[in-house]
Amino acid sequence: MVRYVPDRTGRFSQRPHYKPEELDRECESIITSFLKETYGDASFPVSTDDLTRLIERDSDDLDLYGDLSVFGPDVEGVTEFRPGQKPLVKISARLANDDRRENRLRTTLTHEYGHVHFHTYLWDIEPPQRDLLAQDPNANKQICKRDTILEAVQSDWMEWQAGYVCGALFMPVSRVRELVGAYKEAHGLFGAVGHAGVHGQTLIAEMQTAFQVSADAARVRLLKLGYLGEVDAGPSLFSV
Ligand SMILES: [Zn+2]
Repeated sequence: MVRYVPDRTGRFSQRPHYKPEELDRECESIITSFLKETYGDASFPVSTDDLTRLIERDSDDLDLYGDLSVFGPDVEGVTEFRPGQKPLVKISARLANDDRRENRLRTTLTHEYGHVHFHTYLWDIEPPQRDLLAQDPNANKQICKRDTILEAVQSDWMEWQAGYVCGALFMPVSRVRELVGAYKEAHGLFGAVGHAGVHGQTLIAEMQTAFQVSADAARVRLLKLGYLGEVDAGPSLFSV
């Protein structure tokens, strides 16, 4: 049962307050059931095509070649909410047109999916007033800048939730738990692993291969799940 709290950004009267584990559970269920329906089983990494198909399923249109420069220089994704209809998603053409930016395209896609899946219904419940839209034609759009795609401050709750979904969707919690568990068992580690040490760096690299993500996205995900810390917690009592 999702808890509601007052929305201090003033956009809605109240907003959903998801616990990270609620977002993890929901995201893993969305992606594994989508992959199972498509392929019969869920294997990772999720392909970029599958990420676009998932957004296409739940939106009215996905434009991978958007010109988002009108929204500002570092805007990489926009989700437009339309009460009573599915949303429209635009991704900056700069990402799709540059192979070196595929990881950025992937994180932007999963981030926007976070808005599509978790936030569309809010606009159905409280559609923006006509005069608000006249004053600000972007009042029904979530405009996402590069530096908040992975992480945002918690007070910017819509961006924070989409950032969490971004990692949780293509690095599902139970798959990460398996990967980290196997690594720590093999190396006799317990507790959090220091992010800058050899084990932390190796874990980040293993995550990058398993889920096809950037080192940054892998690090943020491991930190959020508490698997990485500032320093190694120490060797396991059971190792020799
Ligand atoms: Zn966003």
